[in-house]
Amino acid sequence: MLRYGRLEPRPDAPPATGRPLALSAPWFDETELARVREALAGRTSGDGPFCRRVESRLAEMLGVPRVLLTTSCTHALELALLALGIGPGQEVVCPSFTFVSTANAILRVGASPVLADIDETSLGLDPADAERRLSPRTAAILPVHYAGFAAPMDGLLDLALRRDLKVVEDAAQGLGASFRGQPLGALGDAGCFSFHETKNVTCGEGGALALRDRKVAERAEIIREKGTNRAAFLRGEVDKYTWVAEGSSYVLSDVLAAILDAQLDKHERIEARRAEIAARYRQGLRRWAETEGVRLPEQAPDRATNNHIFHLIFPSEAARDAKQRALRARGVMATFHYVPLHSSPFGRTLPGTRGTFPVSERVAGRLLRLPMHPLLEDADVERVIEAVTGRAA
Ligand SMILES: *Cc1c(COP(=O)(O)O)cnc(C)c1O
Repeated sequence: MLRYGRLEPRPDAPPATGRPLALSAPWFDETELARVREALAGRTSGDGPFCRRVESRLAEMLGVPRVLLTTSCTHALELALLALGIGPGQEVVCPSFTFVSTANAILRVGASPVLADIDETSLGLDPADAERRLSPRTAAILPVHYAGFAAPMDGLLDLALRRDLKVVEDAAQGLGASFRGQPLGALGDAGCFSFHETKNVTCGEGGALALRDRKVAERAEIIREKGTNRAAFLRGEVDKYTWVAEGSSYVLSDVLAAILDAQLDKHERIEARRAEIAARYRQGLRRWAETEGVRLPEQAPDRATNNHIFHLIFPSEAARDAKQRALRARGVMATFHYVPLHSSPFGRTLPGTRGTFPVSERVAGRLLRLPMHPLLEDADVERVIEAVTGRAA
């Protein structure tokens, strides 16, 4: 059995109570190994049989006509913007409270990221603040679904409709989650997913782009394949393949797609275990959180989460930092998220960084993530709860 769920204690580490508990861990076993063997015996380059199979499984899950596997979510975001024709001279509004990839992708296609604040409840792009930051050059909004909770998509989709903007969803953390029954990543013009080691479904490094418009999907296929019509050639739609546009290489190897195929077989079990752990955290932490004024992740009946992250929001930065130190001392890996992009060394230099971001700053200063992955055992979860509430370990 491959089990990467636990960090081996460093020989020089101070004695912690029990073994260290990792923040996240992929669940790999013989299923992935068998599938990789199969891929190695066949085609190992991209757009092969496993790639096609995983793409159609994802398209069915999401209810979209076309999904393209990519080398990462960062690349899926780039590919989405390129296929939608977004580039130099245009602006894209995204949240400051996000991973750097969101803004990097906008820069990589030659457009300008304009940072906006998040909404306090969902921790996603705030529609009102996004609207305040629109200009005649704004071409798209790029909301992020943090932790597997939907951004306020009703307000954002309404804004996009009123102002004629494209919507690209950073659903890197959103596979399996939904908003009013609609899968995240299938609500806008394009949805981008990550299969990085830390995500719910993983192949180490990988991504996917979900598209609703077939014309945009055709453009994306060509850009993904170095600007050639190779995808159409492989389907037998054209008799030779050639250079038809400017492109790059965003194709995922079939070896990695084989790992994804195995992970999708397990998807329901992965989600079920995460849901059990989240439910136990809620139950075990509810009283403590009320007493301490700590906020647990929101639960809204119209937003089904995939429990990608279980986060606590403390009443102060000092309280958060103290708890993080206490957890680390007990071998519980708890970390915060993110340095808001507007306050990062590079983000500060961007012309699109203007105004204030009070919610992003408050949340980034007070948020703490607890270990969350399917290899946590019941005793591990109890240990985390005891460490958080300060009861004897
Ligand atoms: C993980 C993540 C990404 C980047 O995904 P990669 O596949 O590593 O490129 C982008 N945005 C968000 C919100 C993420 O969590």
